[in-house]
Amino acid sequence: MNPTTMTSHAPVLDALRQAIGAVHVLTEGDLTSYEQDWRRRAHGRALAVLRPGSTDEVAAVVRACAAHGVTIVPQGGNTGLAVGSVPDDSGTQVLLSLRRLDQVRGIDAANLTLTAGAGCILQNLQSAAADAGFLFPLSLAAEGSCTLGGNLATNAGGTQVLRYGNARELCLGLEVVTAQGEVWDGLSGLRKDNTGYDLRDLFIGSEGTLAVITAATMKLYPLPAAKLTAWAAVPSMQAAVDLLGLAHRHLGAGLTGFEVMNQFSLSLVAKHYPQQRVPLWQETPWCVLLENSDHESEDHARALFERLLEAALESGCVTDAVVAESLAQAKALWHVRESIPLAQAEEGLNIKHDISLPISRIPAFVAETDALLARQIRGVRLVDFGHLGDGNLHYNVQAPEGQDAAAFLREEEERINTLVFDAVARHGGSISAEHGIGSLKAAKLPHYKSPVALAMMHAIKQALDPQGLMNPGRVLAPPP
Ligand code: FAD
Ligand code: ZN
Repeated sequence: MNPTTMTSHAPVLDALRQAIGAVHVLTEGDLTSYEQDWRRRAHGRALAVLRPGSTDEVAAVVRACAAHGVTIVPQGGNTGLAVGSVPDDSGTQVLLSLRRLDQVRGIDAANLTLTAGAGCILQNLQSAAADAGFLFPLSLAAEGSCTLGGNLATNAGGTQVLRYGNARELCLGLEVVTAQGEVWDGLSGLRKDNTGYDLRDLFIGSEGTLAVITAATMKLYPLPAAKLTAWAAVPSMQAAVDLLGLAHRHLGAGLTGFEVMNQFSLSLVAKHYPQQRVPLWQETPWCVLLENSDHESEDHARALFERLLEAALESGCVTDAVVAESLAQAKALWHVRESIPLAQAEEGLNIKHDISLPISRIPAFVAETDALLARQIRGVRLVDFGHLGDGNLHYNVQAPEGQDAAAFLREEEERINTLVFDAVARHGGSISAEHGIGSLKAAKLPHYKSPVALAMMHAIKQALDPQGLMNPGRVLAPPP
């Protein structure tokens, strides 16, 4: 920190040290893990990294910042993919880490709910629920380090949305600290509450731009008696959609996962993680991973899966398939799917698109957009995978083999984003299905969102955060 910054910010830093203790106000040393995003696309500089240990301390931090006009960037596990959780490079924003709010406050077995602090790591919540004999179904590849608060702030999806919904649908109540530093205790756990505007749903998905989430009450489900996983080779995206229809019919509510992966995405896993066995990928353009959760027994689940796969092989939408014989095999199959984003990062920088479309439009979207990109960029490589059961594709663009990935991003990102997002719009889709807008897509949002919707969003921001303290520039770009 330079001396001028130190002098001008000394009063707010003093107030913050008083609020949460000097040891939790970090201004020196290596703060890279807080200041750089997961994909290393942005490296900012914080005035200070703040680590409050309770809701009251978060409120005291926000009040101190509001009094001194200092802007706040909330952060959980810093695994977000839209550059929303790191400070800018001005050295004037505080980075508010919620990681110390990591207590599971309680499980209400009869109400089927779990209440926990925003800093709880998702995997720890899954374990706490399982230890009490329940399922907490939110699941995504970053679950070892992302937090409940971050999941809610981005309305995260993941691999179980098809059956259990995304973070919003799993949430029954929130505790938040408002931009004025007041605490709203909305941890009701009620499944029905029609007493006016739904504030909970407003804060979910707001990416830290309206308030700080400090705790949440989440839905629990009974643990299934058996979970089976299958891996199928399918000849086309249309065949994958046909298989999804068959799976809905045969498995009903038992269908808890339906992931699609193109051959190139699986080739990257085989290349970068040779210790993993990737089934069937060399002989087919697409593979599908299916999960069946059964409340009767493993035999029942297996019989249903066999009937489904027989029907699928007969109709031609599947050409080959394997069903995991053990939990270890099932985990290995999921591990292949979850390794795709990591293998892609190993391959180099890439342009990510996290889009959703009506499922019926996906085959046409993929055919049209693949062809458009291939015409525009010789040798373009597409890492296309995702949660087909929810109509959500990670339609990612990797530089042609041997090309400098950083230069590719610099020169082509804007053109490729426009091409892909225009195609998404033509097919009635959304430019962000789960990662959010952050700063990466803030400038794009006005092109793809209705002016009426945008005006309401600006009005809400102005009403709840009139000083513009909360994560400025994220989601809603400042007026030009
Ligand atoms: P952060 O990255 O710390 O923050 C994300 C945003 O939320 C920021 O805008 C931040 O300001 C805000 N925020 C964080 N905590 C709070 C809080 N307590 N109050 C208010 N605002 C807050 N996402 C999916 O939806 N589905 C996936 O399948 C998926 N897979 C992923 C796989 C990998 C390998 C990685 C790295 C990410 C993946 N993601 C996925 C991205 C996803 O958004 C995050 O992993 C996760 O939901 C973010 O949680 P976090 O605690 O890391 O939040
Ligand atoms: Zn995803």
